Amino acid sequence: MSEQTLVVVGAGHVAASAARALRRRGFAGPVVLIGDEPVGPYQRPHLSKERLSAGGDDGLWLLTPAWCEANDVTLRTNSTVERIAADTGSVLLADGSSIPADVVVLATGGRPRRLPGVEGERVHYIRTLADSDRLRERLSIGRRIGVLGGGFLGSEIAAAALGRGAEIVVFDRDPVLLARAMGADIGAALTGLHQRRGIDLRLGQAISAIRPGADGVTIVTESGSETVDDLVVCIGIQPNTEVAVRSGLVVGNGVEVDAQGRTSLPNVFAAGDVAAHDHPLYGRVRVEHVDVAQRQAAAIAATVAGRPSTAGDAHWFWTDQYDINVQGLGLTGLRPTDTVVTRGSLADLDGTSFWLRDGLLVGGASIERGEDLSVARELMDLEIPVSAEQLADELVELEDLLEQEEVRV
Ligand SMILES: Cc1cc2nc3c(=O)[nH]c(=O)nc-3n(C[C@H](O)[C@H](O)[C@H](O)COP(=O)(O)OP(=O)(O)OC[C@H]3O[C@@H](n4cnc5c(N)ncnc54)[C@H](O)[C@@H]3O)c2cc1C
Repeated sequence: MSEQTLVVVGAGHVAASAARALRRRGFAGPVVLIGDEPVGPYQRPHLSKERLSAGGDDGLWLLTPAWCEANDVTLRTNSTVERIAADTGSVLLADGSSIPADVVVLATGGRPRRLPGVEGERVHYIRTLADSDRLRERLSIGRRIGVLGGGFLGSEIAAAALGRGAEIVVFDRDPVLLARAMGADIGAALTGLHQRRGIDLRLGQAISAIRPGADGVTIVTESGSETVDDLVVCIGIQPNTEVAVRSGLVVGNGVEVDAQGRTSLPNVFAAGDVAAHDHPLYGRVRVEHVDVAQRQAAAIAATVAGRPSTAGDAHWFWTDQYDINVQGLGLTGLRPTDTVVTRGSLADLDGTSFWLRDGLLVGGASIERGEDLSVARELMDLEIPVSAEQLADELVELEDLLEQEEVRV
């Protein structure tokens, strides 16, 4: 049998991880990555962090041309895929050409949700290197920059922009930054952090109008109006499902895939921000984190290389705000009835929130304590019972809990 050709549609995080994992797993056929951006795969998280604050491309590129050449991976940039023709075993491009494909991984990611009419020179939506570079050019001392949406992206951009000397105003209808994503206590701690650093927080107010103009962008809230030089809109993303729809795949909130990443068509997989996967712990869910994209890509690569694998780990992510590292584990599956336990001091930016259910750990979120979550992952994987008292007690080493069979009484 001749070697199979695998094509990844979309040259981002999934593509880079899949290419590396395929070669590691001994997949011998041609691997082709097709992306519509002018450059190859890069660290998208840098766009709201180091690239935005300092420019430069230290650690930016996920695959070098030398690696691609040495590993027989073909990277096609500036190439837009129209659809997958599973019947003829090919991928059709917008320029009318086609590429033979025995196996396809759909990894088209997502794009920023846009507000109708909120466009123009002074309005920014951040997803690509070009978006981030355009914004950086607008960040200078004394410029007043509005950030609409205080989620992960908005709060990271606020921190990076402040570092360039701009004045920052963050608008969010929630009263506390990141509370929905990370819990009330971590949210309150991070809100305090941004306030102390000098961000002007306009929280808990609905926006009634946004008017981009030649001299600035005016944001109208219930308590008045504010004009900023530029506005960065960070209100989430929508998955790029057009290729999937045109290819006849089942699409809901993303391309629906099973735990192995298989779509409704044979030999077509999907992963990353575009995929709504059937997770063994959480059910069907679409997640927008690098680690999840990488694990899904690695599982697909293993499956294609003949060792069927699922991406069933608890979801993990990080965010950096200024010099503060924040991480979350298993937050996708939290329930309002879970018990929250604090270890350390979140207000002092040195602590962890744990979530417990029926004596087992189901999630954690940490500020400057990534090591707590490393142990938490093991406690969760091994289903070791723990008590709230043990988790809260700083005299108890978390590693020691890995040794115990039963909760101490
Ligand atoms: C500014 C920013 C900061 C982030 N920070 C973090 C962070 O700190 N931590 C974290 O865990 N996650 C972070 N994320 C999320 C993370 O980047 C995504 O989860 C990750 O990029 C998903 O990888 P992907 O391969 O699914 O999609 P992407 O990396 O977006 O790659 C998809 C690629 O497909 C291309 N494409 C789309 N349609 C087509 C088509 N028809 N033909 C060809 N190509 C196409 C797109 O242009 C894109 O290049 C951040 C995201 C952004 C935007």
